Amino acid sequence: MQKAKTKKSKTYEQKRDFSKTPEPKPEKINPQFKDPLFTVQEHHASHIHWDLRLEIDGVMPSWALPKGPSLDPKVKRLAVQTEDHPLSYATFEGVIPESEYGAGTVMVWDYGTYENTHRKNNKLVPMEQCLQDGHIEVVFHGSKLKGGFVLIKIKENWLFFKKNDVFASKEDITKTHTKSVLTERTIKHIKN
Ligand code: MN
Repeated sequence: MQKAKTKKSKTYEQKRDFSKTPEPKPEKINPQFKDPLFTVQEHHASHIHWDLRLEIDGVMPSWALPKGPSLDPKVKRLAVQTEDHPLSYATFEGVIPESEYGAGTVMVWDYGTYENTHRKNNKLVPMEQCLQDGHIEVVFHGSKLKGGFVLIKIKENWLFFKKNDVFASKEDITKTHTKSVLTERTIKHIKN
């Protein structure tokens, strides 16, 4: 497991030229919160997608959601796992130049802490284990995403969906909320 982790965090560095991209180098930063962080970054690259990242064991395992998150428990969204990102990436917002990996505009769509709620035999399953097992259940304390969410691995890919709780809704959240949770800018503002 240790080996796989090292390989994944190298991938983030290997894919990027830090003299050209404004993205952060993988530096260890002190977590501001007691609980682990999550972030959702709207990314207008060759295809628009939303990148979900969860702090697990000092890095941020990441998934690209082509359609973004949904608050409707009946709507299960495809989540494609990508390379682990450093913690310092969680608040990154900016424009990745044309020549670089992931070229396009990045906006912090949501940001906050999460709680692991996945239990087995009445015991919390550690997040590292949840990730390995392909079964993650969390409660988000974000500005836009609140309450229970599930990430389940099915064959190669994952599905991401809302749990049925008081925060479940039919609201089309990616359409109704289009501003950065950190700077209140839209993608257009960040781009220009
Ligand atoms: Mn992306």
